[in-house]
Amino acid sequence: MAILKVAKYGDKILRTPSKEIHKISAKIQKLAEDMLDTMYKQDGVGLAAPQVGENYRLFVIDAAAADEPLNPMVFINPKIIKKSGAANSFEGCLSFPDAYTNVRRYSEVIVRAKDLKGRIFTLEAKAGTLLCRAIQHENDHLDGILFIDHSRSRFTTDEELATKGLNPLEPDYLLEEEELEKEIQKLETVQMEEVKEI
Ligand code: ZN
Repeated sequence: MAILKVAKYGDKILRTPSKEIHKISAKIQKLAEDMLDTMYKQDGVGLAAPQVGENYRLFVIDAAAADEPLNPMVFINPKIIKKSGAANSFEGCLSFPDAYTNVRRYSEVIVRAKDLKGRIFTLEAKAGTLLCRAIQHENDHLDGILFIDHSRSRFTTDEELATKGLNPLEPDYLLEEEELEKEIQKLETVQMEEVKEI
């Protein structure tokens, strides 16, 4: 067991795309175990290999609720094979200590990956679950994309980053996501109407 150092926003490794894993070696197995230890130690829900200085397509997640048993999951060479719906998600990241902001996500995804034994599995993350958001967040890390790139409000995110003593947004990395934003706004209108009817 080892606790790894987590790269902070501003470290170039977080913007570097990761390589496929060709062999699930003892090194990769130890890396995954150490990543889980590091994630649990820091009360995180997920952690991707580039965050601990290793540009491999590997991430770990445990999205179990506090009153549920631990459910560590390892994703090797993951691919999101289906994404649908839209969701507003309030997220943070272990590479951005104490900073949180609203981002755009899909509400449902299906991911295919290998586990530590090299077995391929397909997982359907149900609409709006923490697991669904975590899969998208961690998968992005493997392509050098960060949660703040999905920000719904550039102004609010910049304020939050400044408050937490972090670097400002990197405008070149901001994602357009107009369709996703429109869908989220539609959902919010429906939710507000529902509230009024009570
Ligand atoms: Zn993250």
